[in-house]
Amino acid sequence: MNKEELEYLRSWDTLKETIYLKRYYLTPDLIYNMCFNWGKTINIARSPSIRKLYTEYFTYFENFKIEEYDFKVRWYSLEDIVEFDIPRGRIDDLKILAAVCRGILWEILVFKTNIPCKICDEDLRSLIDKENKLYLCCDKCNYAEFINGEPIQEIERQLFPITPGIQTLYQLKPSNVI
Ligand SMILES: [Zn+2]
Repeated sequence: MNKEELEYLRSWDTLKETIYLKRYYLTPDLIYNMCFNWGKTINIARSPSIRKLYTEYFTYFENFKIEEYDFKVRWYSLEDIVEFDIPRGRIDDLKILAAVCRGILWEILVFKTNIPCKICDEDLRSLIDKENKLYLCCDKCNYAEFINGEPIQEIERQLFPITPGIQTLYQLKPSNVI
């Protein structure tokens, strides 16, 4: 591991500690922004191989302001994100860490419905394309369907997180937080 990678791992440790210490006061928005801000620092790395991780894991999130996704219901437990999704142990691979961080952003941003996947045991996330067409997608096995239950073989369009307005329109219910 090179020195610069180590610097990123250290700065993640600091972030992790801050999140843990403030866990009783943090909102999803704050955790999201703290994680995304850490991700953004990857984009200014000296090493091109580190900057590539930014393109791979974080560019997608540049298009959205978390404040516009203020859902009245939650499909995740904030405690679980702080306690489990942000790993306690030391990760010494920056690529894995970038994937973990991206996973947290995805979890908070993209509405997860209570509609089960027809292939595995996950609930489906809801996304839309540019024409506001709704897609239900599985994080785990890549299964996808339209709102009428018709399976989708291949998604060719870029998909975006749904807004609270779309959630109300389709009366989507959140995945049950255990
Ligand atoms: Zn699945």
